[in-house]
Amino acid sequence: MTELISPLSARLSRITEPATIAMSKKARELAAQGVDVISLSLGEPDFQTPQYIKDAAKQAIDEGFTFYTPVPGIAELRQAICDKFARENDLHFQPNQIVVGTGAKQALANAVLSLVDPGDEVIVFSPYWVSYEEMVKLADGITVPVLGALENDYKVTAAQLEAAITPRTKLIMYSSPCNPTGAVFSKEELGEIAAVLARHPRIWAVADEIYEYINFVGEHYSLARFPEVAERVVTVNGFSKGYAMTGWRIGYLAARADVAAACDKLQSQFTSATCSITQRAGLAALRGGRASADEMVAAYRRRRDLVLGIVRDIPDLITPTPEGAFYIFPDVSAFLGRRTSEGVIINDVNELALYLLQDAHVAAVPGDAFGAPSCLRFSTASADEKLVEAFRRIKVSLGKLN
Ligand code: PMP
Repeated sequence: MTELISPLSARLSRITEPATIAMSKKARELAAQGVDVISLSLGEPDFQTPQYIKDAAKQAIDEGFTFYTPVPGIAELRQAICDKFARENDLHFQPNQIVVGTGAKQALANAVLSLVDPGDEVIVFSPYWVSYEEMVKLADGITVPVLGALENDYKVTAAQLEAAITPRTKLIMYSSPCNPTGAVFSKEELGEIAAVLARHPRIWAVADEIYEYINFVGEHYSLARFPEVAERVVTVNGFSKGYAMTGWRIGYLAARADVAAACDKLQSQFTSATCSITQRAGLAALRGGRASADEMVAAYRRRRDLVLGIVRDIPDLITPTPEGAFYIFPDVSAFLGRRTSEGVIINDVNELALYLLQDAHVAAVPGDAFGAPSCLRFSTASADEKLVEAFRRIKVSLGKLN
């Protein structure tokens, strides 16, 4: 018999599928068997894309705007992104510093692959978004996770950052508002981080601001606003969350012109520009400002408060108050080591997530995928009734563990 030899490259075998996607697959399988599963595993707004954005896309089709566009995006869109940065973030870019791609995800991958050499260390503020670590692996870099303390709402401090820096450090990566924790860095906290970076001129930063609009505390601050580090910050943003446009696949980065040019070159060999029609939709979205986002944010805030009201009533679950995004990220360590009513020991958060899927029929994502093996992530981007029912069931199921 011939031996089965994997044809896959070593690179690919090092990469894992996002736990978020793996968990939602499991939830779908269970739902296909007729089980009433509530999936709180994916980070996706449950709102429709605003009508004025859809209309712009229809118009683009009707006008025959269906051809390849310049790789980093159409000129009007890159200009509109510069205008948005100037208006809302006090950041001042030229269009040649903007690269539009198929989602913030591609913008992040462009930045990592453009900046990281094999063996470079990338400090990833942890808990972190699942794809950061895998992107660093693809670039043959080394992820150095630095875990923010629960008492500090999981936010990494400047002192922690300083302590993690070595001569090999090339990049730091974080999201604010943060997926999975919902933490938002204040101007002061970012200022302290900028001061550390100012002392290390070789280190770059990727600031993932995709949840910018979903912020319950008010001001969003960008690391690139600190002049001492501005040149070395790649700011990533997009449309998926703020405009409920996950399926359209559009996001962007702003960086120093040489780095933006490198991202453009990379993207030109992988995907070229994102969809022409989507770009027109993105342009309309930016021209419409953030009013539609503000309506959604009111709903996200209401749901956060609703969910916190219930989970704070569940003994032994420690849940910091998210200041943005649409997740809660409770610490569940008190439940690890407990037994189910059948006597099965729950050893880790993966087993706890599976138990909740099987017993409560609620899908969550185990925190180890985010570098936090004592937490579970629940999305709160669901209808109020679903959230109430989901956390009622979770309370019952957790209550059965002893
Ligand atoms: N960054 C973070 C922190 C995210 O949560 C997500 C989406 N889940 C992305 C980037 C990717 O966004 P997009 O859909 O625009 O690619």
